[in-house]
This record gives sequence, structure tokens and C-alpha cells, in this order.
Amino acid sequence: MIIQLHKNISTENLSVIHHTLEKQKYSVTSVNTQFENYLICIGKNEIDIRSIGHLKGIKDIHRVSDSYKLVSRKWKTDYTKIDLGNNIYIGDGTPTIMAGPCSIESEEQVAKIVGHLIKNNISIMRGGVFKPRSSPYAFRGLGIDGLKMLYEQCKPNNIKIVTEVMQVSQIHEMIDYVDVFQVGARNSQNYNLLDALGEVDKPVLIKRGVSGTIEELLHSAEYIFSKGNERLMLCERGIRTFENIYRNTFDINAIQVLKDKSHLPVIADPSHGIGIREYVPKIALASLFAGADGVIYEVHEKPEEALSDGQQTLNFMESELLINKINAVKSLLN
Ligand code: PEP
Ligand code: MN
Repeated sequence: MIIQLHKNISTENLSVIHHTLEKQKYSVTSVNTQFENYLICIGKNEIDIRSIGHLKGIKDIHRVSDSYKLVSRKWKTDYTKIDLGNNIYIGDGTPTIMAGPCSIESEEQVAKIVGHLIKNNISIMRGGVFKPRSSPYAFRGLGIDGLKMLYEQCKPNNIKIVTEVMQVSQIHEMIDYVDVFQVGARNSQNYNLLDALGEVDKPVLIKRGVSGTIEELLHSAEYIFSKGNERLMLCERGIRTFENIYRNTFDINAIQVLKDKSHLPVIADPSHGIGIREYVPKIALASLFAGADGVIYEVHEKPEEALSDGQQTLNFMESELLINKINAVKSLLN
């Protein structure tokens, strides 16, 4: 059960509510986000919500049978829309495009890609600076200097930045330069990181784990929400299956299931989802038709020379063609 409280609830009224819930054997967690105050009540007994509904300070009460509560659509029927500022929204009914290199490599590389995004009216750029790599000998990113390099060129052009944070200690050094924190597939169940991201007021894009179930992804989002941050989006990026002809199995089913189970925006990552450059645009389009609120994909001036994930990265021509196709089908998507 979720109880929404009035923001200005008095301490006396709050303690009456707590007392009543304890008597009913509920375990209660207080959640105060940037927007609302909630009590998450977990209990074995079914109670008549009218027995608490009359208490002062309560705005609304919802029964939520899912094991994840705050991210469930059972209590919040309106889908969440994320405002990034400068009239840039995610989940507003038009598909969001986020594009950029797998890794930030140099000022020149960033300048070229920023130019490509401006030319095509794309206002969110992805680019990793802390890179989780399967091999320790692979390029692991430029770190905070790379992020500052990205920021210097994005900020004056009103381009928002989405980039991966790998550990709690990086949040503080990154926060002034980031518009959306990305939690990578490998960190999808790093609960310390999720807890810490619950305490910042920046949107978070949470990727599904490499072998993560849909419910595990929803619970990961619940970790962040329950620590105070409601500005979340879920990302399907492919999962590991027995099939190994492509990098991952892009789970298109997950998009509709997530839209049904949660009010959070769902973003598709076709680049990591299939891992093969020539198939990426088709999977991107398919994911939008499957109901995704947006796509995040990798683009580079010269994918063959990219320091990471070149095999799944579009060049500017391919990216432009995809953007044009997305724009052309926009009106068919709702
Ligand atoms: C990335 O976005 O570059 C990345 C490493 O993605 P994932 O965590 O999905 O593997
Ligand atoms: Mn990548």
C-alpha cells in the first residue's frame, strides 16, 4: 500500500498515521522525493483502507499488489514525463532520440558529433567517460576530464548529457556536468549505487542487467525512487541468452511489459541490444513501434576508428537516415 501525504502534514498527524499502521502490523517506510511524501506500507493483513483514509494529512491511498510499489503503474495511471529543461522532455508522447559515441575520445570527436546532432535537431547526447569493459586492457574512458570536455561543447548548444556513473564516489564529481546519470547493465543491481542515486536530483536512466529479469529492473528502479528520486527511466539493452550470433538478444517484448507494469518512460538501446551496426536502425524503429518512449544509440564520425563498440556504431549518414525515418513515422506511433 502507498499512502501519499500532504507536504505540510504536522508531526502530530504523521505520528497518528504511523501509530495506526503499526497497530495494523504494517512495516512502514517513509519516502520523501523531490515531488511528494509517501509512506510505503508492507503488511500481511488486508485492511479496509477506509479505516486509515479519514486520518488527517493523507492525500491519497493506493493498494499496490506488485512487490515493487512506487514504480508500479497500479497506483499512478498517468505516465511519468521527465523535464530536462529547455523544453526537452522524455515521455511526452513524442519519441526521444539520444545519440552519441560509446566513449568520449577527444575534443575533435565531440565537436564532430555535436555538429551532427545540431544539424539533425537532436538535443540529448550520450557518451561514456567511465567505461565498464569486459577486458581490463581495453579503453576504459577519459574519466572526469572527458566529461568536462563533453560539457564544454554541449552546454553552449543546449544539448543535454547522458553518461554512465560506475560508482558512488563518482556522483559528486560528475553531478555538475550531467543531465542524466546512466546506470549501466553491469551495475543494474549495484544497490549502493542505486541508493546513492536516490539522493540526487538528476534523472537516472537504468539499464536492464546483462542477465536481468524485467522484475529485477523494476526493483532496481524502486531502490532509487524509494531513496527520494522519482526522475527515472528504464532501458532495455538486450539480455544474454543461448543465442550468440549477435551480441545480445534485444527483448522487444520487455518494452510493452514495462509500459504495462510501470509508469516510467522506457528507452530502447538497439546498439547494445543487437551489437551489429547494419541492424541497429531497424531495431530502433521496431522498438518505437513496440511502444518505447525513445531510443539511445551510438554514433561516431568514423565507427571503424572508434575506441569502443565501433562494430555497433552508426556513421553520420546512417544516423541521419534513422533520424529522418523516426521523424517520418512519428505520427504513427501513438
Ligand atoms: C554503454 O552504454 O556504452 C554501455 C556500456 O552499455 P551497457 O551498460 O548496456 O553495456
Ligand atoms: Mn557502448
